[in-house]
Amino acid sequence: MPTGEQLCYTDAYLRSVMARVRHVEPGDATLLVLDRTVFYPGGGGQPSDRGTLLRAVDGRSWAVHAARKAGGEIVHELDPGDADPPRVGDDLQVDLDWARRFALMRTHTALHALCGVVWRDHGALVTGGNMEPGAGRMDFEFESMHGDLVDSIEATVNEELAAAREVRVNVLPRDEAFAIPDLIRTKINLLPEGIEQIRTIEIVGLDLQADGGTHVANTSEVGGIRVTGYESKGRINKRIRVELVDPIVAG
Ligand SMILES: [Zn+2]
Repeated sequence: MPTGEQLCYTDAYLRSVMARVRHVEPGDATLLVLDRTVFYPGGGGQPSDRGTLLRAVDGRSWAVHAARKAGGEIVHELDPGDADPPRVGDDLQVDLDWARRFALMRTHTALHALCGVVWRDHGALVTGGNMEPGAGRMDFEFESMHGDLVDSIEATVNEELAAAREVRVNVLPRDEAFAIPDLIRTKINLLPEGIEQIRTIEIVGLDLQADGGTHVANTSEVGGIRVTGYESKGRINKRIRVELVDPIVAG
């Protein structure tokens, strides 16, 4: 059977879809595989989605508290202890917790804008990052970082976001992706040999990275950021923490 459709990678704005249950794995928390889903399974510093499943035929619903990739499929994890999970063949409406997902999209794009500015203006490589809805951190190889510089980085990132730059998703053959010099800084060379296609996120005119996450379509949707802290993680490695100026947006 082909892998279920993974719609988050092609349409980050899709928040609901009808799907059929393909596989149910009982356990403390029931695991479900569907023939299609809007859930993002987590990865690249972006946590997995949460949401609900609704069985139209009898109106029963289940909370999905996490998702993950396993064996190429996106697996949905129900709340632990649910005694009466959906069955194989059930038709379900799959709904994201959209306010949370959209906040993650804005946060993820904000972090890429930060990476883009730090690389373009200071030549510093990213070494890691993580986020929650509305806030995140990035680590850089950035020996010369100091407080005044962080203030100016914050101002520049906000200018770039306000410039309403388009954010594009592309899927490239591996060879073509490796030929883009800037992609190397995101450690694309760590990707397993077997991966033939590389998905990239481009903030047009600012940043281009290999990335599997979900993003807003235009930087104007991010609004602004503020730097909430920075610290040294050694002589060279520095961490910058940011949050969205307006972290909560209704779905
Ligand atoms: Zn990313």
